Amino acid sequence: MKIAKFGGSSLANSFQIKKVCEIILSDPDRRIIVVSAPGKRSKEDIKVTDLLIAVAKAALSGESYDSELDAVIERYREICDDLNIEDKLPEIIQTLKDAASSDTSDENRYLDTVKAMGEDCCARLVSAYLTSIGHPARYCNPKESGLFLEKDAAGKARILGESYDNLENLKYSKELCIFPGFYGYGKDGRIITFSRGGSDITGSILAGAVNADVYENWTDVDNVFAVNPSLVKNPFPITEITYDEMRELAYAGFSVLHEEALYPVYVRGIPVHIRNTNNPSAKGTRIVSERTHYDSLVTGIAGERGFLTITVTKYLMNHEVGFISSLLKILAEEGIPIEHIPSGIDSITIIARKKYFTPEKEDIIVNRFRNEARAESVKIDRDLAIVMIVGQAMEKSVGIMARAASALSAAGINLRIVNQGASEISMMFGVAEEYTDYAVRVLYKELFRY
Ligand code: ASP
Repeated sequence: MKIAKFGGSSLANSFQIKKVCEIILSDPDRRIIVVSAPGKRSKEDIKVTDLLIAVAKAALSGESYDSELDAVIERYREICDDLNIEDKLPEIIQTLKDAASSDTSDENRYLDTVKAMGEDCCARLVSAYLTSIGHPARYCNPKESGLFLEKDAAGKARILGESYDNLENLKYSKELCIFPGFYGYGKDGRIITFSRGGSDITGSILAGAVNADVYENWTDVDNVFAVNPSLVKNPFPITEITYDEMRELAYAGFSVLHEEALYPVYVRGIPVHIRNTNNPSAKGTRIVSERTHYDSLVTGIAGERGFLTITVTKYLMNHEVGFISSLLKILAEEGIPIEHIPSGIDSITIIARKKYFTPEKEDIIVNRFRNEARAESVKIDRDLAIVMIVGQAMEKSVGIMARAASALSAAGINLRIVNQGASEISMMFGVAEEYTDYAVRVLYKELFRY
């Protein structure tokens, strides 16, 4: 059994939806389909989800949302007309109106309720179209199917364990099951959405629940590239990559799947296949637990801005039991996630993301490090980017670090931090933010011999 998830660009208009349906029908193993909301039809267009957010925001500020809602209805009207399923439109309009006029007293839950309707209406529409062309399909509501979520302390949606057992029943459905992505229900019966791009997570959860043979993620590129294609012309395609490699690259800004979407398939060893709706014969990229082949020594290179370093010194630090843990405890209490911790004999550097380390937090933390942990000096440097070289095959080869470091030095890029984990699957370089893209290009040229 295959779970196929289609992204917003694959569902942007009737032409795209017909392609999606052809893909679904071309393989009898595609029984459970997850859909996003219709995305952009052109560069300047607006995604249905963004139109819905505008509806909710207008409502929450006490203004009329009629024009915003009309824009959403117009998108669905056009698609229904083109697909000759006009009789489905009243149900879609009613669904949208019910959500927009629902209870606004909890602003976040209201926003979730409205923005989930992009996916919800899309699933209604796709199932109606498939049925109209002779292939019985049903809209699977996440509440009836048992996809239950809760919000964690940070407001992030988290799946409740029982959902997997509930959702397993989908595999017995006689009709094709069309499932809206991006949202589930809280135990209070109200909608909870994942963060943006979260339909990928729904697809992965369903793949895990039915123990699918593969999770197909249909998008608008032939494959994932070894480097961001806006930085390098015709970069090397990745045909196969492990979950671990993907995770490392995603960490440094590779945005292929939603960050949280790998986990449900990773724990069950279900391969993910990224494919192109506009070119289904392309090979795509497979994300797997064990690779069958290596096309290159390095799998991918990525760089991300937005980090900082906190360097703390204390004479005889290595003799003082509990010093590092007292620093980490303070950071935990202040809600700062830690990214890396390279250390020396009398100093330790903590790398964190700037977005969590606001100037107000900085004052509090520096004071607490000095007064509570008795640090001698605390220095913050807010200008750090992380560049990662990732590749499982590097483990068995000699000299990559030397080649990478000398290429960067020949290009005049100062290395502030160098880190290679014992797993040898990745190397991390810390550079000044202004060098991020340049460093990625230099490394690509060196390591892919381009
Ligand atoms: N429609 C939602 C978004 O635009 C979720 C998704 O497409 O995955 O973020």
